[in-house]
Amino acid sequence: MLKDILNILGVKVAPGKSATVTFEVAKLHTRNTLDVPIIIERSKKLGPTVLITAGIHGDEINGVEIVRQIIAKGINKPKIGTTICVPVINVFGFLNMDRLFPDGRDLNRVFPGSEKGSLASRVAHFVMKELVPHADFVMDFHTGGSDRFNASQIRIVEDDPKLTELAHVFGAPFIYYSQNLNKSFRNACAKAGVPMLLFEGGKSFNIHSNITNTGVNGAKRVLHHFGMLRNQFKVSQPKTSAVVIEDSKWLRAKYSGMFKATVKINTLVEKGEVLGNITDPYGSFNYFVKAPNTGYVFNVNESPIIYQGDAIFHISTKLED
Ligand SMILES: [Zn+2]
Repeated sequence: MLKDILNILGVKVAPGKSATVTFEVAKLHTRNTLDVPIIIERSKKLGPTVLITAGIHGDEINGVEIVRQIIAKGINKPKIGTTICVPVINVFGFLNMDRLFPDGRDLNRVFPGSEKGSLASRVAHFVMKELVPHADFVMDFHTGGSDRFNASQIRIVEDDPKLTELAHVFGAPFIYYSQNLNKSFRNACAKAGVPMLLFEGGKSFNIHSNITNTGVNGAKRVLHHFGMLRNQFKVSQPKTSAVVIEDSKWLRAKYSGMFKATVKINTLVEKGEVLGNITDPYGSFNYFVKAPNTGYVFNVNESPIIYQGDAIFHISTKLED
């Protein structure tokens, strides 16, 4: 049955087969080739196709580690259907230890891309043309920018019952309603009619075992939900059901200085509670940062040096009943 053959970049993968297809993006300035490996696993039994991606931002190592574990543990070998894993989409950024592409473009702001556009735009175009059309569902793994450490959370738009259901299945501690940003991968998938769960957890240039465990367990639960997880894997239910954040506010630093957060991430704080302090190096200044409202702290800036106006805590302002 020809229609059951998956064809990516001219490589045909039949049910029951696996393949690693490499997408050659563009050569490095040294003329060395640079590939994006795409790891495909197919069951003999037909079923859904799930696309699992990370590394859209080259500094978000934690997301890459989650997809690496999914592959290394064989979670991606499905009982039914197909998985397509791309652990590092922005291989240029990953190599350069940079969030962006060599020309300074953010891959997550150029979707759906174009064939003749900038390098980042060409990669976006490839993802939308060669990968997303095969997918029934996408999981994309991210981390907080620079030192801003995100609590494990699934980001979806509000008022999408199917996404809400899948977000609860994933079982991260938080579900955060956020609009699809213009030209983001999530927005392009939404426009293509392919549902996506965007996972955020941890911070850049960091691997944190709590975060990776939450990501891997969440992926297992979703695959189990689709009947794709093989029987050898156990699925544990999350200890508590997800806190759904409808609205939130970033608390910004009132002063520049040295910064130490004392509140733990994922904590419900009361208005006026001390969250951390800003000091100077000379022992003459000590400012206590207090919670402006009652809510969950779901991002903590872990940078020891901050400037006035820097985002230091992300706190929920409205929870879903
Ligand atoms: Zn990201």
